[in-house]
Amino acid sequence: MTICYIGIGSNLGDRKKRIETAIRRMKMIAATKVGKVSRIIETPAQGGPAQGPFLNAVAEIRTDLTPYQLLQELQQIESLLGRIRTVRNGPRTIDLDILTFGEIRMDEPALTIPHPRILERAFVAVPLREIAPQALAMVRSKTRKRPAAVRRKKTVCRSSRPSKRCRRQA
Ligand code: ATP
Ligand code: CA
Ligand code: CA
Repeated sequence: MTICYIGIGSNLGDRKKRIETAIRRMKMIAATKVGKVSRIIETPAQGGPAQGPFLNAVAEIRTDLTPYQLLQELQQIESLLGRIRTVRNGPRTIDLDILTFGEIRMDEPALTIPHPRILERAFVAVPLREIAPQALAMVRSKTRKRPAAVRRKKTVCRSSRPSKRCRRQA
């Protein structure tokens, strides 16, 4: 079984009840068990149109499903809980994001793992750290920027008397 962390958010209707229902539904997913669940925190909406504050939490699950099978199951729970997608970052009855899936890395528009915006969102990083500091550390290490010297583009040396740096690269 693979250990995964799921980010949960709600800012429409009875937010707490919706989060609880989402967790209950996740327990019903085949070949999947729900483990630790973080505290629920209230956070102001970040980005998108003016809207009410969110309740957020993170849940640990263990699953034998593939990442795409898990995504499909989570999207079914979102639909069941009345999720309607209108504008980007708009209000939602429930949002279930796959934050990490074991140590898997994938970068496809339909599924990016680890979720690319974990570190810029305290409402995700804080509850994740509460139940799985090692998972947050793993995300940090996988998204760590390469040193500037490695990122720097190779200097094109056109001059007949190349600079010291160009000579070094030659
Ligand atoms: P954000 O991804 O910035 O948190 P969002 O949760 O509001 O935005 P959604 O409308 O819920 O975005 O999802 C849009 C699409 O993102 C989904 O249809 C899904 O295919 C894709 N997606 C990519 N990576 C993930 C992931 N790790 N977990 C969930 N959905 C993902
Ligand atoms: Ca999200
Ligand atoms: Ca989502």
